[in-house]
Amino acid sequence: MEKIEYYLSLLEKSASASMLICNNCGSRTVSKNTLTHCNFCELEINRTNPIDYPLEKFKKIATLIDNEKINDAIASLDELSKGISDPTASYVLAIFYEFVSNYKYYKLNYYASGFMEENSLNIYSSLDMTSKSKEFFFRALKLIHKTEQKDTANVFLEFMANMKLHRHFNAAKALEEIKKDTTMTNSFEYAQMLTGCFTKSKDSTLKIQKSIENSEINAFYYLSMTLAENKRISDAIKLLSMLTKKARIPMAFYLLIKIKNVNEAMEL
Ligand SMILES: [Zn+2]
Repeated sequence: MEKIEYYLSLLEKSASASMLICNNCGSRTVSKNTLTHCNFCELEINRTNPIDYPLEKFKKIATLIDNEKINDAIASLDELSKGISDPTASYVLAIFYEFVSNYKYYKLNYYASGFMEENSLNIYSSLDMTSKSKEFFFRALKLIHKTEQKDTANVFLEFMANMKLHRHFNAAKALEEIKKDTTMTNSFEYAQMLTGCFTKSKDSTLKIQKSIENSEINAFYYLSMTLAENKRISDAIKLLSMLTKKARIPMAFYLLIKIKNVNEAMEL
């Protein structure tokens, strides 16, 4: 792996790009490319499928989260969860639950250190959101398997839902299907990057580099993860600090808090 200055300069160049609105979850994503993966739900933004799921409702939930109205956002998610029949909507719902779980666990605990009672309430609430998140990732998989013919977007969705559930064997099977589809080159490279990172393969840095060349800002998140795993903690912190300023990637923000917490504990 290169020195951190090299990666920081790559991020500086990549992040000076335009904003795209994800047509799956309604979040904003930074990209130089019109074909990219969302900074929030990680699905491909340039999805050509007709939108038959409640995108507008997700947009409203994203706004509530932006305004830190987390309990209102949770109430809206619970309401929305009652009528889910589309696999993408179920996956996006799971992503939102994962986000609010992290918010309760990391963000609130991080800023509210000292208030033990409040902290334990947040931890319980976070665990509840984690189980809801899992439930809807599984629901997405179930709905995909029900469809007669899987379209390309659903194959990638199947890969992502399995990755989120740490079912790497099933994700690998979906990856094989993505590989066969010549229209999914970008998603194949993105999926390969994730597989490389989570299975800690030797060529994971090369896969990350490839995604950076494809203007995938999320690649810097996976790079930070790899740096941290290779004990380059202060480099990971530097990259994540810059990344969270340049783009709105919640998973990068939580990873930064997590690494800082571990780092502080090690220094004690
Ligand atoms: Zn999205």
